Amino acid sequence: MTARILVVDDVEVNVRLLEARLTAEYFDVITAHDGATALEICARAQCDIVLLDVMMPGIDGFEVCRRLKADPKTHHIPVVIITALDQPADRVRGLEAGADDFLTKPVADVALLARVRSLARLKMLGDELRLRAQTARDIGMIETIADKGEGGRVLIVDDRESSQDRIRAALSDTQSVEVESEPHEALFRAAEEDFDVVIVSLSLQGFDPLRLCAQIRSLERTRTLPVVLIADPDEHGRVLRALDVGVNDYILRPLDPNELIARIRTQVRRHRYTSRLRNNLQVSMELAVTDDLTGLHNRRYMEMHLQALFDQAAARGRALSALVVDIDFFKSVNDRHGHDAGDEVLREFSRRLKASVRGIDLAVRLGGEEFVVVMPETEVAVARLVAERIRAKVATKPFSLGAGQGAIDVTVSVGVASHLGAGDDPAALLKRADVALYRAKADGRNRVVAHAA
Ligand code: GH3
Ligand code: MG
Ligand code: MG
Repeated sequence: MTARILVVDDVEVNVRLLEARLTAEYFDVITAHDGATALEICARAQCDIVLLDVMMPGIDGFEVCRRLKADPKTHHIPVVIITALDQPADRVRGLEAGADDFLTKPVADVALLARVRSLARLKMLGDELRLRAQTARDIGMIETIADKGEGGRVLIVDDRESSQDRIRAALSDTQSVEVESEPHEALFRAAEEDFDVVIVSLSLQGFDPLRLCAQIRSLERTRTLPVVLIADPDEHGRVLRALDVGVNDYILRPLDPNELIARIRTQVRRHRYTSRLRNNLQVSMELAVTDDLTGLHNRRYMEMHLQALFDQAAARGRALSALVVDIDFFKSVNDRHGHDAGDEVLREFSRRLKASVRGIDLAVRLGGEEFVVVMPETEVAVARLVAERIRAKVATKPFSLGAGQGAIDVTVSVGVASHLGAGDDPAALLKRADVALYRAKADGRNRVVAHAA
């Protein structure tokens, strides 16, 4: 999938120039000649990246950028501000307005393509995360917009003291800064500690800084940790290689403290944003496999894992047992005490169930008042004992229905079945446990019956 770039400039020839270069690289390009049109296009989510001229009549580039970044609907679209060469202060103003990057007119091909490619990659990563974490919009973005990107933890990887000091001096008002001059140690710390940005000097001695950048990109723990390179102006080729490796940004010497502050701020914000999306994603994945009411695993989770547990048992010739547990006359709990009381019984039962099984056992709420426990490496005789323990834990102590609601006696019936070796499958195992459960119910409830293999 190719990224769609919106080029915004009031001068037609500038628009055509950028359009031609980007189209030649197979980007999809759309254009606008003023700020208002650009904002409309972005609001309709029609582009992935915006290249924005600063000097335009009406709403200028800074203001367009500020508005895009202030709106939760467009906040995540990367913006590149295009400034005039003779206005160096505009670069910092652009970054302060929330721009993700800037380019200087006349725009050099290599810089243009490197920046656009790296932003396109980042945008797609973000899009994918956002798609999967639908609550992120409400939780994460609003906070991120208010986030100034200060107070982050920054690791400087540089072996020259004078250079370390300069970077530290520029950043220490806005960030919490630490220095590491040993590259191996730096990688280790980046993986073990919670940094928001790593700044790598391209002039490290005795170790290839690009190698360090590549390692940071490839480790699971640091894959999304922003890396910013400090380079000399004559190192253009290595900077481009670094951007290919996945470095997020670079700053050229002599260091402009304002540029350094603004760029690091941007990366800190970006890192917090993606971390938040990631956490939300993790939460929503957990929700998808967890039963809301009881916190036990749900049927979907069991279906995902039971076959794997089965294969493992078969491959190693080990035992595997399952219990199906059903609360007795649960309908009458609801009828007599109300649905909320019924829910409380389900929760309390789940706590007792959880406390009766091992960590490696899979405790699942199948639905309603029916539960399953899958027990790896467990013979039928042992499974029977566990079932009996669960039954007793329920029957011997009344269930509280909540503050001031009193307590009631609850009992469960349990069916037990075990893996029969080659030819057996998960569905058949659960079916046998069900048959045993049915017998336990028929024989009077509050009892354990094992399926006679
Ligand atoms: P048996 O001893 O034969 O298992 O009888 P039972 O009443 O437990 O079984 P039945 O399947 O007839 O009724 C189960 C009831 O569980 C019916 C349903 O309303 C109730 N139930 C299912 N899910 C929930 C829930 O999440 N909360 C509450 N409070 N009740 C639920
Ligand atoms: Mg029941
Ligand atoms: Mg039932």
